[in-house]
Amino acid sequence: MASRTVRFISGADQMVICPYDHHHVIHSRNLGKHIRKCRKNYTGPELAVCAFSAVHIMPPQELLAHQASCPYAKYDVYAAAPE
Ligand SMILES: [Zn+2]
Ligand SMILES: [Zn+2]
Repeated sequence: MASRTVRFISGADQMVICPYDHHHVIHSRNLGKHIRKCRKNYTGPELAVCAFSAVHIMPPQELLAHQASCPYAKYDVYAAAPE
């Protein structure tokens, strides 16, 4: 089954580009574990974390634009009351 490669995971069974090293492409199933491991070795500039997903990690200047279009923004507990 072909998986698409994405920068920010938006569902199951995707190949996700690691925010800490763009040479890493990780299956969504292993992403959380990989991010935790890769963060320990990361020495680059500080990255911002999306308010809607702990594995949406990016340069701080991208954060606002990302959060405005984040696929998980609908789960925002701070937004309108859930249905
Ligand atoms: Zn990585
Ligand atoms: Zn996000």
